[in-house]
Amino acid sequence: MIAKPTIGIAGGGLLGCLLAWRLLRQGCKVSVYERDALTMNRSAGWTAAGMISPLSELVSAEPCIFEWGMASLRMWPEWIKALEEDSGCTVAYRQLGSIVVAHPRDQSELRQFKQALNYKLRQHPTESPLMGHLEEPDTPALRAMEPSLSASLGAGLFLPNEAQVHSRELLSALRVAVRKQGGAWYADHDVRTVEPGRLHIGADKKTFDWTIDVRGMGAQAQQKGLRGVRGEVMLIESKEVHFQRPIRLMHPRYKLYVVPRNTNQLFIGATEIEAEDYSPISLQSSLELGSALYTLNPALAEARILETASNCRPTLPDNLPRIDLQPGYLSINGLYRHGYLLAPALIQQSLSQLPFQDTRDTASHRRSAR
Ligand SMILES: Cc1cc2nc3c(=O)[nH]c(=O)nc-3n(C[C@H](O)[C@H](O)[C@H](O)COP(=O)(O)OP(=O)(O)OC[C@H]3O[C@@H](n4cnc5c(N)ncnc54)[C@H](O)[C@@H]3O)c2cc1C
Repeated sequence: MIAKPTIGIAGGGLLGCLLAWRLLRQGCKVSVYERDALTMNRSAGWTAAGMISPLSELVSAEPCIFEWGMASLRMWPEWIKALEEDSGCTVAYRQLGSIVVAHPRDQSELRQFKQALNYKLRQHPTESPLMGHLEEPDTPALRAMEPSLSASLGAGLFLPNEAQVHSRELLSALRVAVRKQGGAWYADHDVRTVEPGRLHIGADKKTFDWTIDVRGMGAQAQQKGLRGVRGEVMLIESKEVHFQRPIRLMHPRYKLYVVPRNTNQLFIGATEIEAEDYSPISLQSSLELGSALYTLNPALAEARILETASNCRPTLPDNLPRIDLQPGYLSINGLYRHGYLLAPALIQQSLSQLPFQDTRDTASHRRSAR
């Protein structure tokens, strides 16, 4: 058992930030090497909507994604509380459930989604049946929950336990917490190769007790079969339309989601394109995103576009995450569209297998239990 191990982390995106923070809490000496400059945010984690939606994803994902997702859903509230304490920053986390709706002419999409979800839920019952249940609110009930939803939408589905985290607030708070806890952050450091106990950065070799490869798409040379799945998003501002919870709009061609962000802001995403393409959002996508939005509320036509962005989700051939653990080396990759959904559970599972003494976390848990 190593008492105070030195850890070199390659990649400071979602996994890199979370791992650095958790390992510092365990009393490790952590250095993060990030390719981007401090002011740059090109990680998939920064572009992401931050939905934590194991039920919505169950329809199209493997059961293990649902199980890890449910485990993460239970862990996030405690992690966010601890992170806010460690960083002094606020991180918006809401567990108010999510809503699935469809335009009246696309009701068959909604019915199909409901049937597929119910079928999968019967096959994979959760420990607590309450966690995995869905409701079917009628139009008045739906509008009572979300008064901004257009009355023409009809009934929908309500998935009561799903959550969302403000991805950018989370990543910013993690960086602050890493710094405050004495972690070293090396921006502008492109890690070429990660070996057990060694990071290759340019002509330099840095040596540690353990190295962790969480470079996402940047690990392509070392991760066989890793590909990028492009996603496009928009941040809009509307003074008239306000949602409390993520809304998914079923559509024959694309599945649109709208996630409330800061006051008056909505984060919109939809496209999943099998291409490693980091170019700006296409005109077609922006038109489709925009026109689908009117379905939720015609007043969104007056919304202002604050930002558009695109990025690639690191994805392995089976669309599942992969944890590779060897003496002195850990790699986690392939989180695809499930980074926020899976990260706490995957990190806990990985760290529980490392031979480190968990000194500080245990002490702080004892303190908070008093
Ligand atoms: C549009 C979009 C929407 C999404 N929405 C959601 C969602 O709602 N819910 C959800 O659960 N997931 C969502 N995701 C998926 C989620 O963002 C990813 O699964 C997650 O970010 C993967 O985490 P990661 O740490 O492996 O990769 P990243 O977050 O991409 O981090 C990798 C980091 O490594 C750095 N790096 C790369 N190469 C090098 C190198 N050579 N040296 C040093 N550093 C390097 C990168 O700069 C980056 O900072 C979304 C993704 C996209 C693109």
